[in-house]
Amino acid sequence: MHIIEIYKSLQGESSYAGLPCVFVRLAGCNLRCDWCDSEYTFSGGTRMTDEEVECEVHRLSPQGGLVEITGGEPMLQEREVVPLMQSLFASGYTVLLETSGERPLATVPPEVIKIVDVKCPDSGEGDTFAMDNLQGLRPHDEVKFVIASRRDYIFARDFTRSHGLAAKVASVIFSPAFRKDASGGRDVSHCLVDPRVLAEWMLADEVNARLGLQIHKFIWEPSMKGV
Ligand code: SF4
Repeated sequence: MHIIEIYKSLQGESSYAGLPCVFVRLAGCNLRCDWCDSEYTFSGGTRMTDEEVECEVHRLSPQGGLVEITGGEPMLQEREVVPLMQSLFASGYTVLLETSGERPLATVPPEVIKIVDVKCPDSGEGDTFAMDNLQGLRPHDEVKFVIASRRDYIFARDFTRSHGLAAKVASVIFSPAFRKDASGGRDVSHCLVDPRVLAEWMLADEVNARLGLQIHKFIWEPSMKGV
């Protein structure tokens, strides 16, 4: 498979946020979200076998723990990434898969925790989520909405309600989008929607979701890679 990077950091944007995690970042994405902070994944990468990837994960985290398979869009390399996830789970890791849900997710091993990033309209990639994937959500999975505007918030709120997401998955997360060119200060000025404003919308509407912040962008300089 084509790998951009493998590194250890803190998980930044799910209910696992703050825990140590090894990230396996795959190359390639078929979407082009306006605020994407991972454009460096769109091409290139190093060819690695499943065994080589696993070996590096073991080196970085020999005691087990969290591994997140991310990208890009990892499910574009389904044939290689599905056995990798199975093998990592069998070795004792808790495996997270970050995906847009644009590709079918039926082959994802049931033990893998899917974090599905349903694209909102102002990402420029709205309507790309494959609705069939709703049937495959498990109680340990999570659904995330990255919100860049009031329009995105209303989409996320209505989607959450109309599909009963809170009863289907462990967490529904509303997360303010970060400016993709953010650099310098580690503060909310880089958010496209002020987290306080988003919190007030969620409280006013009694949305059954949690507010999420990309904590790595408040811990490290926002443009830093490999964290
Ligand atoms: S799906 Fe992820 S990697 Fe692909 S363009 Fe959107 S934010 Fe970037």
